[in-house]
Amino acid sequence: GLEDDKGVVDCVVCGDKSSGKHYGVFTCEGCKSFFKRSVRRNLNYTCRSNRDCQIDQHHRNQCQYCRLKKCFRVGMRKEGNRLSRMALCQGANYGVLQGLQNSALISQQTSAALSRTISVTLL
Ligand SMILES: [Zn+2]
Ligand SMILES: [Zn+2]
Repeated sequence: GLEDDKGVVDCVVCGDKSSGKHYGVFTCEGCKSFFKRSVRRNLNYTCRSNRDCQIDQHHRNQCQYCRLKKCFRVGMRKEGNRLSRMALCQGANYGVLQGLQNSALISQQTSAALSRTISVTLL
């Protein structure tokens, strides 16, 4: 369709159509789940060749070692989970900030009332 022609970014690992940014880079669903699985289970692969296997849409399943190596080389990061936790923290901080703003508002009103009280006393 028309939508396929524009705005489609290739998977930086295998060149397949990416489904968006995963772990910091544009990857397809296949490479995303491959990377997730490998990192979560701490899998160690071995290359049966010279550790320079070609990773593309058709060969990506032939050598997991080189595929994972390429995932790291193109900048995929395991810290995806930590980043989302940080985002959660930022959300929490935002709530705190709003709370502070509210209390600042209250203290502004309080100080306004106080200064009124003071000026009344001075008068
Ligand atoms: Zn891919
Ligand atoms: Zn290999």
